[in-house]
Amino acid sequence: MSLKKSNSPYEEELKEAVCGVITSGWYLHGPQTESFEKELAASAGKPYAAAVSNGLDALRLIIRGYLELGKLKRGDAVMVNANTYIASILPLTEFGLRPILIEPDPTTYGINWEAALERSEKENIAAMMTVHLYGTPSWDADIAQKMRSKGIILIEDNAQAIGAEYKGIATGALGDASAFSFYPTKNVGALGDAGAVVTGDEELAKTIRALANYGSDRRYHNIYTGYNCRIDEIQAAMLRVKLRHLDRIIKERNTTASIYSEKISNPRITPPSRIEECRQVWHQYVVRTEHRDEFRDYLLQHGIFTDIHYATPPHLQPCYRGIFTTPLPLTEELSRTIVSLPIADISIPEAEYISEIINDYRK
Ligand SMILES: *Cc1c(COP(=O)(O)O)cnc(C)c1O
Repeated sequence: MSLKKSNSPYEEELKEAVCGVITSGWYLHGPQTESFEKELAASAGKPYAAAVSNGLDALRLIIRGYLELGKLKRGDAVMVNANTYIASILPLTEFGLRPILIEPDPTTYGINWEAALERSEKENIAAMMTVHLYGTPSWDADIAQKMRSKGIILIEDNAQAIGAEYKGIATGALGDASAFSFYPTKNVGALGDAGAVVTGDEELAKTIRALANYGSDRRYHNIYTGYNCRIDEIQAAMLRVKLRHLDRIIKERNTTASIYSEKISNPRITPPSRIEECRQVWHQYVVRTEHRDEFRDYLLQHGIFTDIHYATPPHLQPCYRGIFTTPLPLTEELSRTIVSLPIADISIPEAEYISEIINDYRK
């Protein structure tokens, strides 16, 4: 899908940013990356941000960082939402942790916090990863407190929720460490790959910086067997532009989501919940319907393109065959019935038209 429309309001500023990098002669580890990290940390309200290559690497660095610090060890159980993109799970299995897939909360589609708490009372859990899926915060301050008191590390996959808030606190600043993705289709998208880790933990931040730079704490001195997870100066410069427009980006999506929520009224279609005390940023606007294929075909006939996030949950992917054997009926039901409506770059008349077409849908 072309992202020309998404980036066109910022085109002049983006060009200027790129030209600035070309002229500066700094292409990696330069002033753009440093400034972007400061601005991202400030926007989340946390002291440390490390800009890296992509969102998956951000998650991998968090896990590897905790392993190096001895706060996690191989074989540890980590709870995670079963209903997520596979990138949330991959870093857990990669490093020999034991993912405990928890069914989602049917209101937020994020992890069911009560179910997670119950599970943590039955067995030894080292960490939990909460995914703010579709831009809806998935957090419970009381339960988080209980988990923390048992020493459970709380990690956020904030790839879809930059700018979202839970009771006035930014997602990405709620847990001990969080991963951001700036994949081009994300709410704040680079013009290529990029990601970041945000944390209040100085030691973790330092470890992650070293790991992301071949494991070196200073030049040619390697304390870990690390990686190259650098962000380009060009991407950092463009992300600084996009980050300055975060409120506008969220407002546009929120306008579309509000029109859908107000106008769509069809008993065959279940809209997403609007969560009180939260700022949702609508990375996706996901409805549910029984006869999904018919619904999607009907919309397509009216020129409306929809998508599915995600049709096959991680535990049913071929790479995990035989690994996750516990049934996850709610996750599977969601994956069968969800449909993502168009949400990016939709004008008010377009949102109204889409709502009307949906209201005329009969099966
Ligand atoms: C996009 C995404 C990621 C991975 O980010 P990349 O930058 O594409 O590597 C991780 N988790 C979730 C929930 C995502 O949506």
